[in-house]
Amino acid sequence: MTEELNPFKIAQEQLDVAAKLLKLDPAVHNLLREPKRVLEVTFPVRMDNDQVKIFKGFRVQYNDARGPYKGGIRFHPQETIDTVKALAAWMTWKTACVDLPLGGGKGGVVCNPKEMSRRELERLSRAYIDAIGTVIGPELDIPAPDVYTDAQIMAWMVDEFSKIRGHNVPAVITGKPIALGGSQGRGDATARGAAYTIREATKRLNIPLRGSSIAIQGYGNAGSNTAVILHEMGARIIAVSDSKGGILNENGLDSNAIIQHKHKTGSVVGFPGAKTITNESLLEEQCDILVPAALENVITTKNASRIKAKIVAEAANGPTTPEADDILFKNKVFHIPDLLCNAGGVTASYFEWVQNAYGFYWPVEEVYDRLDKIMTKAFNDVYAIHVKQNVNMRMAAYMLSVQRVAEAMQLRGWV
Ligand code: NAD
Repeated sequence: MTEELNPFKIAQEQLDVAAKLLKLDPAVHNLLREPKRVLEVTFPVRMDNDQVKIFKGFRVQYNDARGPYKGGIRFHPQETIDTVKALAAWMTWKTACVDLPLGGGKGGVVCNPKEMSRRELERLSRAYIDAIGTVIGPELDIPAPDVYTDAQIMAWMVDEFSKIRGHNVPAVITGKPIALGGSQGRGDATARGAAYTIREATKRLNIPLRGSSIAIQGYGNAGSNTAVILHEMGARIIAVSDSKGGILNENGLDSNAIIQHKHKTGSVVGFPGAKTITNESLLEEQCDILVPAALENVITTKNASRIKAKIVAEAANGPTTPEADDILFKNKVFHIPDLLCNAGGVTASYFEWVQNAYGFYWPVEEVYDRLDKIMTKAFNDVYAIHVKQNVNMRMAAYMLSVQRVAEAMQLRGWV
């Protein structure tokens, strides 16, 4: 049998296993297998050469039993509706895993931002909001950044939505610049949350974080900030990569200097004093902790048995296939699943939404402190199920999250 790589089929498969373990009511299970609403939009954007190009975008609203839909917007040339559906399902489980009063959604536009000017990106961002504007809002569905979207793009989007409404609506989008109502600490919150879960995992496994060796795939928001924060916690970053390739130095790399090098040259590759490696070999490097922080399906049956790390911490969404999960579990690799590991981003987004509603803003120390408490509690909740039920950490996170969403659906009388 060939390995399933369709992210939505994988998300459904993971849910099916959790539903069986939880003995979930079949009606709840069947409702949770599909998104509540899927919107596909087609819209024109005038390019710098004066030609009009037609783009396709999506917004998937998966489940809002626990609160408004919440999830990022991804700009990617290979974006598909099934990727967006999977990411929307994972958002539903993620907000429930860290116990936020939010549901799950996700958006995407099929485009290649690397080939577009800033002006073109601004027009595309505004046009996408015009196209989905009727289904989003602070009490309805709150987008945020994801792969190849950033705080500036969120600024254009919140401005466009505010124009539609006729007044400023900061709480419609999170991950905004601080000057427009963004939260202190949101920028690196995904990475910080991941680092907190890694810290908790090392305590359970008796691996001293100080001095431990780290390999990170992907050097964007999630990856580069995880490198900086783990370095601050005393760990040694030995290998990192981006879409152009990877670099390795067993003695340790300077994570901030790599950010500057990538900024200047467009890639981590060519960083002085490091050996060039491939993205594939990075995953198999001898290290204590491996952090996939790029895209889906990078750990599969093809390479799972060659992973040498003691801990795999999924800063990325969906980097491991279910078959690879089983191999890692069998090989006693401790896995911090995406639902838990990268939930710091949505947690700080939730803080931003709360602060926007109050019009009262917290200092960064308060954000870090609240984030640490939520991530540590979620880690402990998931770990307790992992031990008690003897299931892998992903299934433990699923069981916790699905149970919470199912309870909200039943209390509402949906099923
Ligand atoms: P980003 O656009 O800032 O960075 C993506 C990075 O991945 C870039 O360095 C890019 O070069 C690299 N990359 C792309 N293709 C690659 C490949 N084939 N091999 C190796 N590297 C590759 O995106 P991000 O926000 O850091 O998101 C990365 C992952 O983290 C995604 O799975 C995303 O869904 C997840 N995530 C992000 C957030 C957030 O707040 N940014 C929150 C939760 C989860």
